[in-house]
Order: sequence, then structure tokens, then C-alpha cells
Amino acid sequence: MHTTTAPTVVIDAFGGPEVLRLEDRPVGEPGPGEIRIRHEACGLNFIDVYQRTGLYPMQLPAALGREAAGVVEAVGEGVTHLRAGDRAAYASGQSGAYCAARVMDAAQVCPLPEGVSFDEGAAMMLKGLTVHYLFRRTVPITRGDTVLFHAAAGGVGLIACQWARDEGITLIGTAGSDEKCALALEHGASHMINYRTEDFPVRVKELTGGKGVDVVMDSVGADTFDGSLDCLKPLGMMISFGNASGKVPPVDLGTLAAKGSLKLTRPTLFTHIAEHQTCQTMAQELFAKVLSGAVRIRIDQRFALADVAEAHRALEARKTTGATVLTV
Ligand code: NDP
Repeated sequence: MHTTTAPTVVIDAFGGPEVLRLEDRPVGEPGPGEIRIRHEACGLNFIDVYQRTGLYPMQLPAALGREAAGVVEAVGEGVTHLRAGDRAAYASGQSGAYCAARVMDAAQVCPLPEGVSFDEGAAMMLKGLTVHYLFRRTVPITRGDTVLFHAAAGGVGLIACQWARDEGITLIGTAGSDEKCALALEHGASHMINYRTEDFPVRVKELTGGKGVDVVMDSVGADTFDGSLDCLKPLGMMISFGNASGKVPPVDLGTLAAKGSLKLTRPTLFTHIAEHQTCQTMAQELFAKVLSGAVRIRIDQRFALADVAEAHRALEARKTTGATVLTV
């Protein structure tokens, strides 16, 4: 059956969750390098909030969503890694994943192995590929190294905890409640700090015998940035990769020298998966982690696509743990 129209979440203005609305959009035929995919599930990510509020500006009106899984309905000229009928999942730089079906660039769409469900596919591509590039492609991190990872009980966070455990990396995590800390410990964090009740730089120094950590992975942004720099060893690497609490203010580079020749990077997944073959290889390595049982994709919230505003409210209010999926 060919999908000709599909319910799609769009925004006409930046703002709160109330700007999210569902409309039926036409779904055409794929052009060269494109596919048409019918979604079974879509992933919810904090980047969707940044796009909805305008923190990451986009042209309006706009369709939201960067991650989904489903069945390929048709492929355009030149697409050789997918065929009609294939199960597939993706994280894409092209927004518009909050929908029942779409036509899109095929480069970042990956065949989904039989052992991974659609829900898992929709919950793991953007978050899991992010963990992959943070641990494998940003700075050399080896067995025995220590990483501080903020928001460790979230969608990206619980995958990071398990990835670190599997690779022999000591992960010190932070989270906003004792329950979240317990959850991250269950998933492989070596130590957890409740950063609402404890002074996290002081605790990190205690836990590392005064030395500090090799790498900080900070997606909380404004609230944690300065404290994160205080957690690093001399020559340590600060990876600032998100802004859940707000954008990090401009940084005085002299601070990096004063705190011990620190390094600082601000990466985005979409640079790492821009090249087709690299993206496919990263996805295969991620699927291998999941199929081996080393990483379990934990979906703690499910919302119907029509209830997307409620899902955004829960994510922004820090009420979620693990991944959230929108069911189609
Ligand atoms: P999460 O499920 O981790 O949700 C965000 C978490 O951030 C919350 O649950 C909360 O955990 C914590 N947080 C701290 N302060 C605030 C605040 N003021 N408001 C809301 N949340 C806050 O989201 P995702 O897994 O989707 O993403 C995690 C982070 O990683 C996001 O910042 C996202 O932008 C970033 N990211 C960056 C990518 C990149 O390539 N640069 C790619 C993918 C994700 P707690 O209550 O424990 O503090």
C-alpha cells in the first residue's frame, strides 16, 4: 500500500509545547537518493525542544523530529543500500521525523536488524550514535579512563552508562534525583552524584582522589559548564554537547589555560554522520552493542504522536528517564 498523506507534527512559530500541531501532509514519490518510509515509531530528543523554542533556529513553518524507525515503501534512483519492504531506522539532520510517513534523503537511513524492534530503533539511533561519537570519535578514550557524564539517567545518558561499562571506562554520572542516580548505577555508572543536593565538583575530586577526570561530557550547559571545568585533570577534555539548562555563555579562553591547559570542543552528531558510509558503519557498531546485550535500549515513556506536546512537557520538566517514543 502506498502512503499518499501522513499526519505530521509541524510548528508555525517558535514557542512552548502548545505550538506543536498535527496536520495531514502529502507524501510524494522519492527522487534520486531518497526513500519513502512509513514509520512505526518516532524518537523524542532534546534537540526537538531546542528547535521548537527557536534556540536552534529553522525556517518556519517546519516539521519537527530527527529520529524514527519503520518500513521502506519505495526507493529513488541511486539508492542501493535499501529496498522496498526493508525495516529501517535513522537519525537525520533533515527534520520532519514526527510523522506517519515521509520522503527523505536515504544517506543516513540504516537497515534495522531483525533482533532490534521498531521501538528500539526509534529510541536508539540519535541517542546511540551520539554515545558512539562521544566515546569513539571525539578524543581517544581508553580502558581505565574516567569520564564525568551529566544527566546520566536520560536517553543518551543510560546508553552512555552501559557503553562505558562495556568498554572498561569509569563513568561518574550526575542526575537530578536519588531515584535517577539509582537507575544510572543499575545501568553501569561507577558512581553517581545527585547534582541538585551535592556539590558535584567537590564530589568528583573526592571520588578521583583529588586528580579529576580525563573527560567531561556535558549536555546540561549553562548550569554545569563552569563546575565541569573544575572537574578536569590538567590537559583534560571538555566536551560540551548540549544545553538542556540553557546556552553556555561565551567562554574566556584564558580560563582553559588557568585551569591546566584544558581542551574544549562543541560537537554535533550531524557532522559525524554526514558521510553515508561512516554513518552506516557507526550504526552497525551500535547495533552490535545492542544485539550482544552490552547495551539495552530502555524506553520508559510512550506517547501517541497526537500527544507530542505532552511528551515535550515531560522531557522539559525533567520527568523522563531513558528514552521516549512517539507511537504512530
Ligand atoms: P535527556 O533524556 O537526557 O533529558 C535531558 C535531561 O537533562 C533531563 O532529564 C535532566 O536530567 C537534565 N537537565 C538538567 N537541567 C535541565 C533543565 N534545566 N531542563 C531540562 N533538563 C535538564 O535528553 P536526551 O537524551 O534527548 O539528550 C541529552 C542531552 O544531549 C541534551 O542536552 C541534548 O541536546 C544533547 N544531545 C546532543 C547531541 C549532539 O550531538 N551535540 C546529540 C544528542 C543529544 P536530570 O533531572 O537528571 O538533571
